[in-house]
Amino acid sequence: MSPYSHHFTDGTAFPFPLGKIVCVGRNYAEHARELNNPVPTTPILFIKPATAAVPMEQSIELPAGAGNVHYETELSILIGARLSHARAEDVMPAIAGYGLALDLTLRDLQSQLKEKGHPWEIAKSFDGACPLSPFLRAEALPMADDWQFSLRVDGELRQEGHTQEMLTPIIPLIVYMSQHFTLQPGDVILTGTPKGVGKLEQGQQLELELEDRLHIATRVAS
Ligand code: ZN
Repeated sequence: MSPYSHHFTDGTAFPFPLGKIVCVGRNYAEHARELNNPVPTTPILFIKPATAAVPMEQSIELPAGAGNVHYETELSILIGARLSHARAEDVMPAIAGYGLALDLTLRDLQSQLKEKGHPWEIAKSFDGACPLSPFLRAEALPMADDWQFSLRVDGELRQEGHTQEMLTPIIPLIVYMSQHFTLQPGDVILTGTPKGVGKLEQGQQLELELEDRLHIATRVAS
């Protein structure tokens, strides 16, 4: 497994290492419902460690003997400047890029932990739990009301996200995160998954797209 470092789609490196990956649970109502979860009124945050990240183009290794591994396709955001107690107007200038991520989840383990009322951290944080695509530079993808992103598995459309359906949109989400802890250059934000999550199987071919700007093909190792 090659170590992860940030790159833009043109191949240039981003000059800060990955710090933390800050994620939000249930940011799309339809996804909360498909897992029989209540729709939250404030963002539910959790953090994946930097050791969870792997380049998305590299084949995805499923952890052995860990039960079902689910894909969750998410818009990712690369932070380019420090944000602490940010105001809304501070957020856009601090975004360096946009990409796609898979928030891989040990769903059986997560369900067991949730039943006990325990944190689900270990279901989300294993080595390889966060394949990350290269990033489109923020200046090359101006913020729009809606971006569409998708996942195909063996050619079949499984997830189609529209950022306008986020319960907490990008700017208020990052403002909220920065009220609770500092975001640093090199940190990555995962913005939640739309409905359609499911189990990964060995040998599957995955294709991910963001608008017409980012196309990634990868596979699950067999
Ligand atoms: Zn997720």
